[in-house]
Amino acid sequence: MKKTKLISILIPLLSMGLVGCDKGDASDIKDEVKYESDASYHWTVANDGSTSEKEKHTLALDESKGTPATCAEKGEKVEVCSVCGYEKKTSIAKKTHNYVEDAASSTASTCKVAGEKVEKCSVCNDVKKTPLALLDHTYVEDATQAVVPTCSVVGKKVEKCSVCNDVKATEIPRTAHTLGAGTAKTDDKGREYTEFECSECHQTVSTKIAFNTYEDISGTFAEGKIAKDGGKIGWTFQLPAGDYDVFFEAKFSSSSGGNRTFATRQVVVTYNGNNVEYDTSKTAEDVGMNSSEYKACTFFTITATGGVDKMTMQNPNYRLVFDTEGYIVFKPVATVA
Ligand SMILES: [Zn+2]
Ligand SMILES: [Zn+2]
Ligand SMILES: [Zn+2]
Ligand SMILES: [Zn+2]
Repeated sequence: MKKTKLISILIPLLSMGLVGCDKGDASDIKDEVKYESDASYHWTVANDGSTSEKEKHTLALDESKGTPATCAEKGEKVEVCSVCGYEKKTSIAKKTHNYVEDAASSTASTCKVAGEKVEKCSVCNDVKKTPLALLDHTYVEDATQAVVPTCSVVGKKVEKCSVCNDVKATEIPRTAHTLGAGTAKTDDKGREYTEFECSECHQTVSTKIAFNTYEDISGTFAEGKIAKDGGKIGWTFQLPAGDYDVFFEAKFSSSSGGNRTFATRQVVVTYNGNNVEYDTSKTAEDVGMNSSEYKACTFFTITATGGVDKMTMQNPNYRLVFDTEGYIVFKPVATVA
């Protein structure tokens, strides 16, 4: 009973549905739409060529597509538009390596040989090597090689590395002389100066220093002369503590020839590492470079410490030659007439 009733209801419904389908076919072809898209939008294009307004994609990550990044290769992420099916692909940067130190392959530094830290990526086995700094030497003083400085002998400190036997020697400067009362002197050209005798080593210390008694030279220096731009000449000396006017006395010549005038203020003087200020109240005598006569200029004042002092002269701008037959004369300020 029940079955028969149900079939009788279904048959009219099905026939109605079939009729509806046949009827709709012709009009559906006309209205058929398809999606078109660009990187940001999708829109529909109807069969008759009309288009809809652009709409933004509705993107969702599709984890079944794309590839994950590793430390060896870039990855790719794929998002799919739920409306039009557009796939947006984005590159994913490589992951950083997961380096783990490989202690067996690493080497430690010593004071002679630089070590190396070796690391290996636990994912892709990439190897990274980093050089290590040398260790400091472990210096121990070797007293048997030491030289104690005196006023006449330069001292020496000798150290040896207890690990690699590297030897390091350091000079220790002479100590100051023990100067007694000075003796006034005059040389064969009439230059006045003072001589002092050291009571320890009996060396004579003069307030007149010849150019060829320099103890320290640097810069572009031709033997015995300041020859070129930037040339520098230096002296190490000791005078009893006090103020001195410094007279500069030399024969000049020019390495490039021709007549030139040299002004003493063109010389840069340092005293114990500090630049010396010229005393502009004193007259610096400018001299012709080709003069064969000695020329003297008072051009600065120093204060001697009574210890071992250092002075340098430099001509940074001129091709100037100071002949070796020159003198620096220190006159105690109190006795300058
Ligand atoms: Zn879309
Ligand atoms: Zn890796
Ligand atoms: Zn060492
Ligand atoms: Zn001495």
